[in-house]
Amino acid sequence: MRYALLLCAGAGTRSGLPANKLLYKIRGKAVAEYALDNFAAARDNGVIDEIILIHSEADRAEMETIAARYGALTHTGGPTRPESVRRGLRFLRERGAKGADVVLICDGARPNTPPSLIAACAAAARRSGGAVAAYPVADTLRAVENGVFTRGVPRENTYAVQTPQAFRFDEIWESYEKLPETAAKPDAPNFTDNGNVHAAANFTDDGGNIHAAANFTDDGGTVHAAANFTDDGGVHAATGFRAELVIGSPDNYKITLPEDLKRFEREIEQSSLPVSQSPLAVSQTPTELLNSQFSILTSHFPRVGVGSDTHRLVSGRPLILGGVRIPHDKGLLGHSDADALIHAVMDALLSAAGLRDVGFYFPDNDPKYKGADSLKLLAEARAKIEQAGFRTVNVSAVISAESPRLSPYIDDMRARLADVLGIPQNRVGLTAKTGEGLGFIGRKEGVAATACATVVHLHSSPASHCEERTQ
Ligand code: MG
Repeated sequence: MRYALLLCAGAGTRSGLPANKLLYKIRGKAVAEYALDNFAAARDNGVIDEIILIHSEADRAEMETIAARYGALTHTGGPTRPESVRRGLRFLRERGAKGADVVLICDGARPNTPPSLIAACAAAARRSGGAVAAYPVADTLRAVENGVFTRGVPRENTYAVQTPQAFRFDEIWESYEKLPETAAKPDAPNFTDNGNVHAAANFTDDGGNIHAAANFTDDGGTVHAAANFTDDGGVHAATGFRAELVIGSPDNYKITLPEDLKRFEREIEQSSLPVSQSPLAVSQTPTELLNSQFSILTSHFPRVGVGSDTHRLVSGRPLILGGVRIPHDKGLLGHSDADALIHAVMDALLSAAGLRDVGFYFPDNDPKYKGADSLKLLAEARAKIEQAGFRTVNVSAVISAESPRLSPYIDDMRARLADVLGIPQNRVGLTAKTGEGLGFIGRKEGVAATACATVVHLHSSPASHCEERTQ
């Protein structure tokens, strides 16, 4: 099951309104309803299963009426955000949430969360255990002390954290269970961000989505100390933050101050104007707007690549396929070890990442690659796609050889490929086929391989969206 906890229990004191800003109506619709529109769309598209609106006791009647319109459940939150999350998680547990179920924790005060971002966070949490939407910081950062600028703060690799933040249920449950009650009290240092709570529990990612249990030895010292850290990127790293970054959206802002509410109100008024009168049309045509939305929307999607390779079978060479030396009276001819399977997989991965092919990066006239171990070349190909911001999801390949029989070696090949690619063995699929006596395969003149790979782009930036659009 995939649950979305929509946090609407805040008093909204900074918004300058006498009542909860989420009940403030624009064009007859409460801010919370605009947020619910996005989550209901995600649910209707099968991305999440249940929406739970967390409200304060004071707003119960109105929030229940709103939730009912969207088929959402409701639950009463607490005096602080962490306490509301904790109560929401307890409610989910009572409803049977467990283990690998995914829970998305979202601010009700973000009325513009794209359903595609909700989908990307849910998918990333399933993959990695945790996922946090964040957007690269564009403004120059400087520290201030006593009203005076003191020093510049490097902006590289800094991200403004947004919601959704999505987690495997057992991990976030354990993180919140370990968080002492003190951290959830109004006068204690509060987590404003569930990613921090998740990170505080010291989950480590084993590449195969295996997570060690939270390993606090005491609640008073370690957990309390953990409750003191802020959103500072360096501190995140120091505390072992292992949630996956999902690039959020600049439009996914949180309504906190009166200006934010005015901005949202203005956007709603403008979006109801005909396109020709919309101020958006001044800077972007509808086509440009669509293109940029498409680019941002699909940046999280998996990308597929295809590769193939053929090598001639000759006497006097070893037969190496998938990094495994296979006893046979002939072997494959080539500049490197001529491992056709690995070369096909490399091409599939490089192609999925939009990079050039094996021949381009590892030319067969370069003495460096004479007799090269193709597993090492595969490791280099992996480094190239990771440098470009991609991570391998899975590979699948077909090896065509009349003889010898390959099935005894298949699992060994899968293990070696998985090891070099840093993915579990069950994400490497290999099929062996014969040529049924037909063609060069059937005549035992050569061996061929075809491979498919999927990769995901983890570290896309606004700049890369722009590059894509202009390509
Ligand atoms: Mg080759």
